[in-house]
Amino acid sequence: MEPLAIVDVRARSVIAPLRRPIRTASGSIDASPLLLLDVLTEQGITGSAYLFAYSPIVLPSLRSLVGGLAPLLRGQRVVPLARQQQLERQFRLLGLQGLLGMVVSTLDMALWDALGKAAGQPVARLLGGEPQPVRAYDSWGLVDPVLDAAALEHSVQQGFRGIKIKLGGGDLAHDLATVREVRRIVGDAVALMVDYNQSLDPGEAIRRIRALEPFALEWVEEPVAAEDLQGHAQVRARSPIPIQTGENWWFPRDAERALSVHACDRMMPDLMKIGGITGWLSVIGLARAASMPVSSHLFIEASAHVLAVTPTCDWLEFMDFGSPVLEAPCSLEQGCVTARGPGLGIAWNEAAVERYLVD
Ligand SMILES: [Mg+2]
Repeated sequence: MEPLAIVDVRARSVIAPLRRPIRTASGSIDASPLLLLDVLTEQGITGSAYLFAYSPIVLPSLRSLVGGLAPLLRGQRVVPLARQQQLERQFRLLGLQGLLGMVVSTLDMALWDALGKAAGQPVARLLGGEPQPVRAYDSWGLVDPVLDAAALEHSVQQGFRGIKIKLGGGDLAHDLATVREVRRIVGDAVALMVDYNQSLDPGEAIRRIRALEPFALEWVEEPVAAEDLQGHAQVRARSPIPIQTGENWWFPRDAERALSVHACDRMMPDLMKIGGITGWLSVIGLARAASMPVSSHLFIEASAHVLAVTPTCDWLEFMDFGSPVLEAPCSLEQGCVTARGPGLGIAWNEAAVERYLVD
């Protein structure tokens, strides 16, 4: 079969509803601003992926960036590594962080989706693996153990093997009361993770994490600023609970920087920041060499594929931002998510896209 050739790259902005608003230590997200990316090919195959913009304010800029990249990609082949190297060269002086890094990473996912669709295979198989069930945890924002009690119980009844809650909205007494109550609600058999979303300084993080020791937490996530690797390392050295980070690493070099200073016990790269599937493949080599468990961040459809080929596969974060605009949303089966094809299993529900479309 001749290699696929790119005819055009298009992006649409949507604001999709959320299963439940996500309250974090730095504000609430009530709907998910997504950029839907499509790579059209000469052969009639379309590769798709979506980007989570965090804030609707940046959607027009992201769409405009895709428009700017399209002329560089038209006529090029669907070869993810070559395209990423092409864009790295093109933007060497600007650098691939921020919005451009998000677009380059998402483009990579769409290219892999096109390759899988052309082959009629799930991407996991193209990567040398096989779709397989990956244990999933339900990812919550800040919780109110009283108001959210029934919904937390529902998460457990759905079969989730883990629950993650966010902390950082109050003082240590508030953290302890919340974790104690959530632990009581979900029971001891369910893994419980907490995420501080970068809200503490190292000294305060150490103080709070030591106090959380009795609750058998699976991990404490981003206790301090994500880019403060030394701070993460200080906390980790004195923490009785495994330290998790990685969702804000830009491309594989950030993962290497974090590992080299022992910033964490576990890692959770984000496909949209780590360089898409191509970036993920570099990082899991580092993780394997360091015997470090790897979990995903957002993007459950694509994450299920890459976790299936991750030797130190740990947890899939179930945060289904894409579900409202997908033809066949990912589902939870016996507490696990299994990768689906063809490609990444991403096909837009066009009626829903139309409904949530914004300029
Ligand atoms: Mg997090």
